[in-house]
Amino acid sequence: MDENGLLGENKENLLGETREIADRDLQNVLKIVKAEHQDLFKTVLIDVGDPNVDTALKGGPAIFGPEEKVGFVPRIALAPDFEKMSDDSDYFGKLMERRHISIDLLKEQLSRVFVDKDITIDARLLKVIILLHELGHLKHYLENFKKPNVGYVEAFDNRREDYNRQLEHLPVPGVITSVARRAWERSKGNTDEERLISMKKQIVDGYFKLYRQDYYKKIKRGDADYNFSLQEGESVAEFLDRHERLEQETATEKFADDFAVKFLKKHWDELFPEEKHT
Ligand SMILES: [Zn+2]
Repeated sequence: MDENGLLGENKENLLGETREIADRDLQNVLKIVKAEHQDLFKTVLIDVGDPNVDTALKGGPAIFGPEEKVGFVPRIALAPDFEKMSDDSDYFGKLMERRHISIDLLKEQLSRVFVDKDITIDARLLKVIILLHELGHLKHYLENFKKPNVGYVEAFDNRREDYNRQLEHLPVPGVITSVARRAWERSKGNTDEERLISMKKQIVDGYFKLYRQDYYKKIKRGDADYNFSLQEGESVAEFLDRHERLEQETATEKFADDFAVKFLKKHWDELFPEEKHT
């Protein structure tokens, strides 16, 4: 955030067209989290990012990670279309469709916490949940990796290694759901078998080559085998849904979801006061 004076006037040049979060619900979330967890905000940038610079924001609503342009401090960035999405926007419709498994899982969790409420995941609630989820990642990173004697670069390296280890065990090994789904959508072929082979190629030669170079080299040298296949009788859609469900159950994602649910349980009436009477 601007207040800690990390970026000053150079922010625009460094990070593209970023800006402060304007959405009122999201501002409320940040205000409450800030009061409750002052430790979380010592050094972190939270803003609406520029999808032309943060290309991950083209595919996903929000990112948490190191901001290499500013000394690898942690940063949470939201996609502009995500920040302003409404119930009738295309962006919301697509998000609900692409992440239906994680959203259903969250809805289940919330319904267990709010037994008297009829939980509907609308655009407003989903925005709040996703920001909280990213804040959960920040908390997990600070508690588990960014120890006082560990620098940001090393801390993020350790986190990445730990996270990659968790991803190795997923149905599409080594990648998060959005990458797996995109690789499937872009795959070519006339049959599922052909498309799965093309999908594998996309992941190795497209994704790993760019983002996991060590792993990519290992695969190319033949020191690592990269493979995945459907379970007996499973459709590709079911396979990708299974991937999403298991990703959501990894220790890292579970921590973030639990943080979001716990926060909502405690602060629901503050965030959504107009519903108090229900
Ligand atoms: Zn996450």
